[in-house]
Amino acid sequence: MRTAIVLFTRDLRVHDNPALATACANAESVVPLFVLDPHLGKLSPNRARFLHQCLADLRESLRSRGGDLVIRTGDPVTETLRLAGEVEADGIALTEDISAYARRREQRLREECDAQRISLRLFPGTAVVPPGDVRPGGGGGTYKVFSPYYRAWDAAKWRDEVATPRAITLPPGVTVGQLPALPEGESPDALDGGETEGRRRLKTWLGHVGPYDDLHDDLPADGTSRLSAYLRFGCVSPLVVANAARAMDGPGPAAFVRQLCWRDFYYQVVSAFPKISTEAYRKSGDLEWRDDPDALKHWQDGLTGVPVVDAGMRQLRAEGYMHNRARLITAAFLTKHLGIDWRHGVQWFFRWLNDGDVANNSGNWQWVAGTGNDTKPYRRFNPIRQAERFDPNGEYVRRYVPELSSIQGKAVHQPWRLADTVRSGLDYPGPLESHRDEAVWLRP
Ligand code: FAD
Repeated sequence: MRTAIVLFTRDLRVHDNPALATACANAESVVPLFVLDPHLGKLSPNRARFLHQCLADLRESLRSRGGDLVIRTGDPVTETLRLAGEVEADGIALTEDISAYARRREQRLREECDAQRISLRLFPGTAVVPPGDVRPGGGGGTYKVFSPYYRAWDAAKWRDEVATPRAITLPPGVTVGQLPALPEGESPDALDGGETEGRRRLKTWLGHVGPYDDLHDDLPADGTSRLSAYLRFGCVSPLVVANAARAMDGPGPAAFVRQLCWRDFYYQVVSAFPKISTEAYRKSGDLEWRDDPDALKHWQDGLTGVPVVDAGMRQLRAEGYMHNRARLITAAFLTKHLGIDWRHGVQWFFRWLNDGDVANNSGNWQWVAGTGNDTKPYRRFNPIRQAERFDPNGEYVRRYVPELSSIQGKAVHQPWRLADTVRSGLDYPGPLESHRDEAVWLRP
């Protein structure tokens, strides 16, 4: 092959990138391309910022190998084909993806490539085990329940990691294009994006994964990898992360690998059920949700009057991230206590999360709401019991809800039980009007 375009999407790395590695091995010249979609910035300023940081870092890595990252703005299919004409590309390499948007893009690209006799090749790299590679009973379906999926995933043969290209040769005369100025995010304490930062975090994390089994639910310990956004944008290869942890002994690394499997699990769910963000997976679980804009707003603002819920919601805004246990508590509070439609939760999280990802966000929301893949869809999370168990001294709540910082110990979880004299001095709301009856239940 003479010239290949590697269309980057959310595989923003040079290491273990099968699309890039294969193009570099087989083509005389390679054009690494990213097409900026103007709509993304409106969808989530946080992710737009993270993405730009990833692109700047990727560009540096490609430059240090003699190449560059070509930037275009507009519709990815139109821009890719336009560039293919300019550089006379005979092949396009793309990493497979599963969202409805990604699959439409792939379909359109295929039609255009067929019409123009350009070869389009798809490569794995978004998941440890590509969706569809393991199927129940070896048939054509998908797994609906996690545990059997995990057993099959764990027993499957994983692909080999590919080498990082040493040199990348651009064709002569290609205009590389500018990266626009770094957009503002909305969360002041969000992590910075990029493969370099993602790889650094992975290396550090592997030194801390030992107690993950014990600590991953501990809210104040913050004892998880925080690799999710790097996985989301492909700054780190999920296979490399899983292989590195699998090579280690002990319950911590094993529990971490199992958690990574959840990510693949939802990918294979979404590949079979692309409407996961809008339609209930288990229709009978989709209730008559309450319309309560006031309660929704209080939940979004972290002002429900239930401290652990408010702490989670404020962490989300401050960091573009929320601890998994807090995601479970806040999502269950919205759906199972306030009775508000899970789709509102999907949208709010999707706006803020740097790791915001259709499959994992909507899949988890549906799991919590009882419309998804939970085998116990009627389970309820008592936020106070959750708080007392996973934030026993109230540190997590005090970290994110400064109005309660004067309350010592676990008393911070139930401000309504404090003496009136103390409570009246706090600038913190009582339980929501619509949740008052529940608040009676909240008092043990
Ligand atoms: P770690 O505990 O270090 O786990 C390692 C990796 O495993 C994560 O980075 C992630 O890729 C994967 N993982 C862990 N737990 C889950 C899970 N329950 N489902 C799928 N993958 C998992 N995760 C996202 O990546 N994007 C989302 O948009 C997202 N939305 C969520 C919404 C709700 C309501 C809930 C309950 C969970 C959501 N999660 C989402 C899953 C989980 O909360 C995050 O992956 C995790 O908190 C990220 O932190 P970490 O990287 O430190 O995780």
